[in-house]
Amino acid sequence: MPVSLLGFPWDASSSYARGPAHAPPIIRSLIGADASSPYALDGTDVRNAIVSEDFAALPAEPAEARAAIELRTAEALRTGAPLSLGGDHSITCPILRALKSRYGPLNILHIDAHTDLYDEFDGDRYSHASPFARAIEDNCVNALIQVGLRSVGPDERAFGERNGVVMLGADETEAIPFENLTAPLYVSIDLDGLDPAYAPGVSHPEPGGLSTREVLSVLKRLPVAPVGADIVECNPERDVGLMTAHVAARLAKELAAAMA
Ligand code: MN
Ligand code: MN
Repeated sequence: MPVSLLGFPWDASSSYARGPAHAPPIIRSLIGADASSPYALDGTDVRNAIVSEDFAALPAEPAEARAAIELRTAEALRTGAPLSLGGDHSITCPILRALKSRYGPLNILHIDAHTDLYDEFDGDRYSHASPFARAIEDNCVNALIQVGLRSVGPDERAFGERNGVVMLGADETEAIPFENLTAPLYVSIDLDGLDPAYAPGVSHPEPGGLSTREVLSVLKRLPVAPVGADIVECNPERDVGLMTAHVAARLAKELAAAMA
């Protein structure tokens, strides 16, 4: 499927540092930058794969912003598979709602240091700590496979086990059940799933994460084309010489190629 590139400049649902709202145009500029290749590793010319772009601003009120994200994702679906650049991880819940309306419950590969299964964080049920808890409650999830985890509290562990979530650490990529990542497949990449050595520009760095190459190897093994994907939590205010934005741009190219 052709790819619709979306930018969601939203970080008001972050529990700690702001900054990810500034990431989408930076990552987009690097996808098309003269200094880097327009080709994915399989040779796909990403400039041809991306057929539409939507980087409009969002309303300031959180419920209105979520509604706008869901609506714009649904609109993007008319031209291509939505590849979304965040923004904090709270954007994923309204994206999944739009995709569920089209495809039904999704099989999801979720790369992250965190489960994002909090029932709420500081009273916010739509925090960036909670998108997958809400997505499960909204019946957006058929299978949820998380990898890169290294910050799992007992409540999230219990919630995940109750709901059949596969929770894997950063040293367990070989245990990913790829046979369950069938259509309709969605991929959500929180950049803090990578080690801060590769992706320092995040709000919640946790040493001991995946390398860029490990993430690329996982994406290479996806058994079907994703119907949607996102890359979230790039924080330009914490980045070191655009390192993390460059990683995000590379991952965006590979996801675009996998979807196309
Ligand atoms: Mn995270
Ligand atoms: Mn996350």
